[in-house]
Amino acid sequence: MKRLEGRVAIVSGGGSGIGRATAVALAREGAAVMVTDIDVAGGEETHGLIQAAGGHAGFREQDVVSEDRWIEVVADVMDAHGRLDILVNNAGIGTGMLVTDMPLDFWNRQLAINLTGVFLGCKHAIPAIRKGGRGGAIINISSVAGLEGAAGLAGYCATKGGVRLFTKALAKECAMARDGIRVNSVHPGIIDTPIWTKIDQGGLQQISEGVGVAQPGANALSPDLIAATGAPLGYAGQPEDIAEGIVFLASDASRYMTGSELVIDGGWTA
Ligand code: NAD
Repeated sequence: MKRLEGRVAIVSGGGSGIGRATAVALAREGAAVMVTDIDVAGGEETHGLIQAAGGHAGFREQDVVSEDRWIEVVADVMDAHGRLDILVNNAGIGTGMLVTDMPLDFWNRQLAINLTGVFLGCKHAIPAIRKGGRGGAIINISSVAGLEGAAGLAGYCATKGGVRLFTKALAKECAMARDGIRVNSVHPGIIDTPIWTKIDQGGLQQISEGVGVAQPGANALSPDLIAATGAPLGYAGQPEDIAEGIVFLASDASRYMTGSELVIDGGWTA
């Protein structure tokens, strides 16, 4: 029995890593998935993977910082399916830089993508989900960096801590409205995705020093080595490990959970 048969989902940042694994897993469980990403090639690849597996998917290019684009994407989903049940706010960038070195535009960019993007997604998805009258699920991707501070990651921690409490406040707003929309956050630890190749090198060096890797170099910065220094399980998680948690939060199996934080971190925060 598929857990999400007949549901319709939007997954931002679905062209890579955790977003791709999530889009594939939601589709496997029967949901029709609108994959969005600023990276067209990556988003189309995910779209193709879902279709090849016999799932239902669409793709739209989207920069999550654009409010106009959120309005268009939600309208497209409603035109195509007449309903929206699940929103996964996953798009994000990894950032690393000491506060005293950080240019204001760097600070503003990480906030815009990692936090404002989540706000805009929720703002425009909720009215669409409410139209269905059946409730729904919003899953916002935070991080263990939204639970603990880390040197060299202050900006990233600010965005992910913001996502955590934004999620809890919104969960209470939806509960107050009795709209049946549950809002939860997911907190991955070190997950082996391309995000680690995209963080600026200065920031990566600071991160690796923060978790005690001896001498940073290309190999010393691999997710596995970073995880080995901080995660009791001793290795990096896979995107599918996070996707499974997201499927659970999207499904009725988690019907009494809202405003919760699901930590999937190999024991990092234990
Ligand atoms: P990733 O880089 O593999 O994927 C992120 C996706 O977001 C990419 O496809 C990228 O193109 C997209 N994206 C970036 N900026 C965008 C924008 N402005 N508009 C739309 N799409 C945009 O990274 P990932 O590891 O899969 O990260 C997914 C989420 O998980 C992020 O929010 C990240 O902060 C979070 N996270 C990751 C880890 C980890 O170790 N990989 C740990 C904790 C949290």
